[in-house]
Amino acid sequence: MAIQWFPGHMNKARKDVAERLKDIDVVIELLDARLPASSANPMLARMAKGKPRLMILNKQDLADPAVTEQWLAWYRAKTQTEALGMDAGERAPAQRLIAACRALAPNRSGLEKPLRVLICGIPNVGKSTLINSMSSRKIAKTGNMPGVTKNEQRIILEDDFELYDTPGMLWPKIEVEEGGYNLAASGAVGRNAMDEEEVALELLKYLLVHYRADLAARYKLDEETLEGMQDWQALELIGKRRGAVLSGGRINMQKAAEIVLTDFRDGQTGRITLERPDEWAVWEKRAKAI
Ligand code: GDP
Repeated sequence: MAIQWFPGHMNKARKDVAERLKDIDVVIELLDARLPASSANPMLARMAKGKPRLMILNKQDLADPAVTEQWLAWYRAKTQTEALGMDAGERAPAQRLIAACRALAPNRSGLEKPLRVLICGIPNVGKSTLINSMSSRKIAKTGNMPGVTKNEQRIILEDDFELYDTPGMLWPKIEVEEGGYNLAASGAVGRNAMDEEEVALELLKYLLVHYRADLAARYKLDEETLEGMQDWQALELIGKRRGAVLSGGRINMQKAAEIVLTDFRDGQTGRITLERPDEWAVWEKRAKAI
């Protein structure tokens, strides 16, 4: 089963965003640095065409730094869009964004022509955290509940600098199967819309190829033992290690899956990125061919 999840009010959100975009000068799109392509919104890219955009790869503290560099280079080269890695909780880099936005729309300044910036991104990617860090006082509510809509906010950061939170929310149509699993692994998808065991198995499949050493270290396993192992075998082994065992000695795979997912989301498994530009190109091509 592939992951497919969009809340019903998406069409309304799309209309609201299109309306809002009319008088926006710069769009900041927040991506999850652990899954930059899956967390991007292709619809937004089309709607904001022609407007200066800034891509922020947020939660870079949880992502693989070498792969973040690959993505930043990819964005700059392929989309001619300025891209930055960020940890939205840090104030100094967040506040430097104000100058970066001003540089993208130099004709907008002063009280007559305030610069209007829209922040977009999937639920839980860190929009509220970033808004708080960009401003000198606490404004936006932050939360950890995917799918909870917040009302649009306009925040006046400086006399001639206005920041808009996305009205409603935009959720990408999941066209690439791997992208759906990556969104689910990151915690962006509501629990009811996914099978945790299936998502954990897909995650393990990727980790066994790219992050075997991290996996071995996290669960005190032998790296060589993991080599050539199937995802379900690794899940069983982790379940055993963590005491996720049912009466009769069977492994509680659901519990083991929850452990694997929670550890990944909290950054306990290491700094991990679930997709690279070259891989994404292959996945996308395959999805389009179907
Ligand atoms: P929003 O739904 O896009 O507004 O997301 P929030 O700002 O509410 O953030 C969702 C969760 O991600 C919160 O628990 C934040 O503390 C956390 N978060 C946001 N930015 C970062 C970051 O750069 N690194 C890490 N590790 N966590 C972050």
